[in-house]
Amino acid sequence: MDTIQIKDKKFAVSITEQEILREVTRVANEINRDLAGKNPLFLSVLNGSFMFTADLMKRITIPCEISFVKLASYQGVSSTGVIKEVIGINEDLTDRTIVIVEDIVDTGLTMQRLLENIGTRNPKEIHIASLLVKPDKLKVALNIEYAAMNIPNDFIVGYGLDYDGFGRNYPDIYTVVE
Ligand code: 5GP
Repeated sequence: MDTIQIKDKKFAVSITEQEILREVTRVANEINRDLAGKNPLFLSVLNGSFMFTADLMKRITIPCEISFVKLASYQGVSSTGVIKEVIGINEDLTDRTIVIVEDIVDTGLTMQRLLENIGTRNPKEIHIASLLVKPDKLKVALNIEYAAMNIPNDFIVGYGLDYDGFGRNYPDIYTVVE
């Protein structure tokens, strides 16, 4: 399928499954090399990163653990009004090597929030693995060591990412057609 329609928007294939898997394999190899002997704990951020996480983890060959976290928005008392709470971390992160597994870093604010939260739990080190990064949109300084692909600012779906809940199931990545 070269183009798909989701609700009011049309999308065209921009990154094929084959290209995605090539870059996911590269990132997995880098992690296998860099984090050998560290028994990393991968924290996959749901929902968007489920497909990336599955393909990445199949290629991780060093001893490791995996767990899943979620960000829940709720109205709270803050300057912005909306606070994102990290839920689902039940493990003891003390002295652990953590790898946050995200689908996409856009402004970087979500990742910053995750780093702050995980940082309070006394890990030894925190690494970031993101399937996609939109470098031109980044608002905060982040050290994204394991980025599979950089992309332009356009809105994308597929391979775990959604538009209004739909489109996560496609194996390729699609970009919105204006
Ligand atoms: P950030 O906090 O870095 O601005 O945003 C990160 C979140 O925004 C991602 O986890 C994802 O849910 C959403 N996001 C950013 N860009 C896109 C995009 O192009 N497509 C989709 N489907 N979600 C996006």
